[in-house]
Amino acid sequence: MTRVSTFCSICSAFCGFEAEVENDRVIAMVPDKDHPMSRGFSCSKGRHYHHMLNSPNRVTRCRKRVDGDWHAQDKGQALDEIAARLRKLIDAHGPESVAVFCGNGVTFKALTMPSVHAFMQGLGSHQIYTSLTIDQPAKIVSVGRHGVWAAGGHSFESARVLMLIGNNVLVSGLHGPGSIPGWQPGALKQARKRGLKLIVVDPRLTETAQQADLHLPVKPGTDAALLSGMIRHILDQDLHDAAFCADFTEGLEALEQEVAAFDLATTATITGLQPELIREAAEMFARQGRGSVSSATGPDMAPHGNLTEHLISSLNSLCGRHNRAGERVAGSLLTPDFPPIAAVVPRELMPETLNPAANTRRSRVRGAHQLFREMPTATLAEEILTPGQGQIKALLVIGGNPALSVPDRAQIHAALQELELCVCIDGRLTETADMADYFLPASYGLEKTDMTVFNDIFWGAPYHQVSQPVVPPPGEATDEYLYLAALAQRLGVTMSYPGGAIDTADPPSPMDLLDLVFPAGSTRVSPRDIAAHPRGQVFESFAELEVIPALEGMHERLRFMPEGVAEEFAQLRASLDSADDEGDYLLICRRNPHVYNSMCHEFPQAPDDNALFAHPDDMAAAGLASGQRVRVCSAHGEIDATLQQDATLRPGVVAISHGFGGKSGGTPVNALLSSNESTDRYTHIPRMSAVPVSLAAASA
Ligand code: SF4
Repeated sequence: MTRVSTFCSICSAFCGFEAEVENDRVIAMVPDKDHPMSRGFSCSKGRHYHHMLNSPNRVTRCRKRVDGDWHAQDKGQALDEIAARLRKLIDAHGPESVAVFCGNGVTFKALTMPSVHAFMQGLGSHQIYTSLTIDQPAKIVSVGRHGVWAAGGHSFESARVLMLIGNNVLVSGLHGPGSIPGWQPGALKQARKRGLKLIVVDPRLTETAQQADLHLPVKPGTDAALLSGMIRHILDQDLHDAAFCADFTEGLEALEQEVAAFDLATTATITGLQPELIREAAEMFARQGRGSVSSATGPDMAPHGNLTEHLISSLNSLCGRHNRAGERVAGSLLTPDFPPIAAVVPRELMPETLNPAANTRRSRVRGAHQLFREMPTATLAEEILTPGQGQIKALLVIGGNPALSVPDRAQIHAALQELELCVCIDGRLTETADMADYFLPASYGLEKTDMTVFNDIFWGAPYHQVSQPVVPPPGEATDEYLYLAALAQRLGVTMSYPGGAIDTADPPSPMDLLDLVFPAGSTRVSPRDIAAHPRGQVFESFAELEVIPALEGMHERLRFMPEGVAEEFAQLRASLDSADDEGDYLLICRRNPHVYNSMCHEFPQAPDDNALFAHPDDMAAAGLASGQRVRVCSAHGEIDATLQQDATLRPGVVAISHGFGGKSGGTPVNALLSSNESTDRYTHIPRMSAVPVSLAAASA
């Protein structure tokens, strides 16, 4: 048995592990106590990662569906046929008839997304869809509208106060920049000893909320109103950083007018909180001087997610929670080696992914906007089902399961069945693969070269890790980029990366491709220098960079009232005036610690059901009991679920995990959701949390 340093890439926490390997088989995953970042932390998913590789459900040969049944097919033959069918569709309907959907299985893989973009750019199609736009697109919208402070926000280590909205970091292990590192056991405890104040906004008394100074059990979907009330109170009390606002922001007076309606009493009525609690939270956040407010998935999936994220950015800027000239900050390894600057990044220098001016494509469906160089997943089904120029005819699904994850289950199923060609690149036959024409077996994380791609902005340390394959991929399984290169070669398509084009007939090794994704000059440290340290490395020379003053000509300002925000305030006020939201209960999403959305359900500890959690008082009032099957009805659909009591929930709120149903057992929540009920005028992310529902005993 040998031990190999690696990391878990199921989620973007990238915890360090030592894989125990015997006869080319991973037999155990041991959390790495000496890992510079995670220091022995892991969740149960990482400790069972090898079950994904060794699962009896693993499919390692290419398959083709013939008359409804899968048949094994030679890999070269499968690629020839897929390329020929793609060519026919492109010739008849144009390159934009070809789309790609990428799910959580690959969105954190260093080589896959750059290769998807290279392939699609070569093809001439912008039709890239991922789970991002049905998860937290509002964070990207917020960065594009509010602007970016080049020297970053206050670090966790220097924070005196943190406010977390809908982020149970002690369970998810995931956190935003400047927040509690969920994978550092004891970090919160130590910070509390040095005096850190913690405010948690969550409809549930979560594990993290139990550690907080203040817990605000907010009514789901009212985070934007709460933030408006806090901002108004901070301005009323002159607790904001007036000097920072004067020097580096614009639109404060207009924001002040918008939040004027949200006095403490009104905000309390809307949010279901005590006015005194809102006042205390606002003053605690503003008076502590250092620290940030951040959020996770729930607030972005609920109505008014864009306004919520904008007000989070605005609250941080209002209180001046940005690093200033003379302070020392950790530098990111994967950005060019410029000193951190105490100024707003000029729009023209923003990365293409974040710059609205570089994302000008619009969907045929409701004019939804391109974001992060991706098209909005809320429109995917209708883009397939709507005839006309630009209709999607072929879909490559890579590491994703849209049949289970995309809102409006009936619509996405109809769309997948309507496709003229559907190809799944994955390690198992998902519900989506059940509707595909071809299956190409993919290697999993421990079977490929990979790199932690963006997390040093969350880690607060100049750290990255490159992992080499711990075991060889089984059978015909291979890296997704090699399939894309093989198709590109057959289609005569060029795949270009930041460092240049590849020879698709003789694709580069993963390390050579990493050099093209992160070419010399684009990063402080090259992937090869990172790879020289199998456990990864904190590059100390970038750990404490001095922030320099703004350079000549840097006059950009952080925007409190950019385009669209006034309309979103009007939308918020209109929704508060209507009674539309008032179902019997509001359904929120809840992360199950043992699975990752529709992934990891083959792990031994994964539950085979996603219970519906409700407050015991609500259950008693409705005459319902734990263990009972209930019918959950929304305006869009209905599902049956097993009821489980949870006294930590706010009364009137019920919670369930997404990603269940079909082969993994449990119930598919996407059947309750509409694909076109949205308050987001950019990506049209559907209402996926704070969904009004009713409950009744399910008929036997
Ligand atoms: S799934 Fe768990 S072990 Fe793996 S990276 Fe995420 S938090 Fe860490």
